[in-house]
Amino acid sequence: MIINRAGAITHELHALGHISLPAFFLKTEAPAVIDAGMSLMGERYIQEIREMTNGRGPAYLFLTHMHYDHCGSAAMLKNAFPGMQICCSEAGERVLERPRAIQTIRELNRSAIDHYKALGEDVPGTSDFEPFSVDRVLADGETVELGADLSLKAISTPGHTRDSMSFYVPEKKILFTGEAVGIMAANGYIFSEWLSDYNDYFYSMKQLAVLDVDILCLGHERMLTGGDAAAYIPRAIQYCIYFRKLIESTLEETGGDVAEAKRRIKEKEYDPLPDATQPDFAYLLNLEAKIRSVQRLEYEQSRN
Ligand SMILES: [Zn+2]
Repeated sequence: MIINRAGAITHELHALGHISLPAFFLKTEAPAVIDAGMSLMGERYIQEIREMTNGRGPAYLFLTHMHYDHCGSAAMLKNAFPGMQICCSEAGERVLERPRAIQTIRELNRSAIDHYKALGEDVPGTSDFEPFSVDRVLADGETVELGADLSLKAISTPGHTRDSMSFYVPEKKILFTGEAVGIMAANGYIFSEWLSDYNDYFYSMKQLAVLDVDILCLGHERMLTGGDAAAYIPRAIQYCIYFRKLIESTLEETGGDVAEAKRRIKEKEYDPLPDATQPDFAYLLNLEAKIRSVQRLEYEQSRN
């Protein structure tokens, strides 16, 4: 099944806020939140978490990576629930130590709020992103106990970003990936999201593909269960290969002209999709990062 709404998925798993922004809640002895959307959703997350924990708050917040739409409301949650431990990869903690990165997160978070407001959408909050510190760095393969019969395993899955980490709950076969396995459009098309490195992204997906997954919580828009969840990662790998080839052939056609390749790929890949709602500049920025990564790959191969 493909789920595209927030709310209860199972007794212990809830999607908080709005499905377009990731924030998942695991109801257990040591309740956990996975990702913390943008700051505009912060108050709504806090209210929903309060209700589900009888005011106690979560024990943990696990962050998949330090993009503004995944960690935007982390500081708001920490202020509301000071006992909550913020956990992420070591590379994620390093991102937060860089003033330039904090500035970029703050600016993108603000421009997203302005973008939604300009579209006339319901914007529940307008607070800016605030920096926060990490309470616990998780190593690849490290397990955190969430209760007598529930644990969460951190899996390092770089490629979307260097700091990307996925989280797997083996007892319930739930996998939270952030954008490590791309994003699915309404028609089933899967956007590949290697922004830092193609090879890392590809091998991270291969690593996740061996897991037994019953509920797959993607970074945005959709959760998949049962057969859809099991089939997703192998499909995402196929889309990843397809998209790399598309970039390679388009670069060949344009004689290496990146601007023209971006225009052609957008026209072919993105414009025909009925739910292509991402602002053009964001799509093109990400596309350029993917093209540059493929160019690096070709350069490295030519040297070997
Ligand atoms: Zn991201």
